[in-house]
Amino acid sequence: MAPVPMPSALSFELLGKCSVTKARAATLQLPHGPVPLPIFMPVATQASLKGLTPEQLEDAGCRLCLNNTYHLGLKPGQATLDAIGGAHKFQSWPHNILTDSGGFQMVSLLKLAQVTEEGVRFLSPHDGSPMLLTPEHSISLQNSIGSDIIMQLDDVITTTSPDLARMTEAMERSVRWLDRCIQAHKYPERQNLFCIIQGGLDLDLRRKCTAEMVARDTPGIAIGGLSGGEAKDAYCKVVDTCTGLLPEKKPRYVMGIGYPEDLVVSVALGADMFDCVWPTRTARFGNAITARGVLNLRNAVYSEDFGPIEEGCRCVCCRSQEDGGLGITRAYIYHVTAKETTGAHLLTMHNVQYQLNLMRLVREAIIEDRYPAFLKEFFGKLYDDKSKYPEWAVDALRGVGVDLLSD
Ligand SMILES: [Zn+2]
Repeated sequence: MAPVPMPSALSFELLGKCSVTKARAATLQLPHGPVPLPIFMPVATQASLKGLTPEQLEDAGCRLCLNNTYHLGLKPGQATLDAIGGAHKFQSWPHNILTDSGGFQMVSLLKLAQVTEEGVRFLSPHDGSPMLLTPEHSISLQNSIGSDIIMQLDDVITTTSPDLARMTEAMERSVRWLDRCIQAHKYPERQNLFCIIQGGLDLDLRRKCTAEMVARDTPGIAIGGLSGGEAKDAYCKVVDTCTGLLPEKKPRYVMGIGYPEDLVVSVALGADMFDCVWPTRTARFGNAITARGVLNLRNAVYSEDFGPIEEGCRCVCCRSQEDGGLGITRAYIYHVTAKETTGAHLLTMHNVQYQLNLMRLVREAIIEDRYPAFLKEFFGKLYDDKSKYPEWAVDALRGVGVDLLSD
């Protein structure tokens, strides 16, 4: 039996639907202000986006970022978060925050983590003492953080696991853990709990899990357990199957997705929200995300390239000084990129801006009902030749009525 539906601290206003694909544009009203959907959410590990201040993140137009419960729970810790009144105050961030449950971080960071019905058992990275993250503890931590969107603790295993019995157990356990999270949640009137659909790459398991999760009537719904090295066509089938079964008027969040082509295809398959550490992590390796692909500015071909990182980019690095920006050139990044912090900082600003701007353009195209044309233009810029288009993207988009290969 599903428990009584919980209150919701969000509203979802659908602004437009693509007449060909499953793409939607909406405004998500959260406790710390409106958020345009579709959206990419930068990941601010340890309550600071590596290389960016909250002001810079705000200037880039970010209105919803992601914090890690695992990191905040270790430092500053729950008592400090309670004393200061949550993570918004702790990091001077006036906009919205989404937190993960902490479970994925533990399973991926701590080799000795072990999942039981009670929760995730692990050894403290501080003193090696045994600890247990239960659904109740995860929600309690997220209640102290005060994030606008909180995630259920789920039993997540890699999608490429061939063990169907374990996959089924993880899916069913995630449903039982959602019920425990709902029971433990103290502030449903100001924090929105999202469920997480599991089931690996097995579409029947995904359908069963979706039905169970939808019956719990949480304010938003996530599709989890993906981005674990599975083939992209298998990924697309899972997203397409799940979104086909979800209620129209709730936000849909696909966890761990951030490559530009994955974002635009996932939107066409009916997803609204995404997060990934890749745009900021790759900046630390000298990589700039542009409409024509990723450029490694550590490459000597850029040593005398005095153009901006990307022509026409409105980020503070790329804008000229006359235009109120820094007027940073590719050659400058090339020369400072060995000195880790400066180059990484500048590229992080550019990459975050790129991702946020991409989603703004996606949203405009959906509202004006020209998303199929947008997709063709996007892939046309990214690959100089149609023969180079990734097969999975061509197939997935054909499945929702867009033929990238036609003129
Ligand atoms: Zn830029």
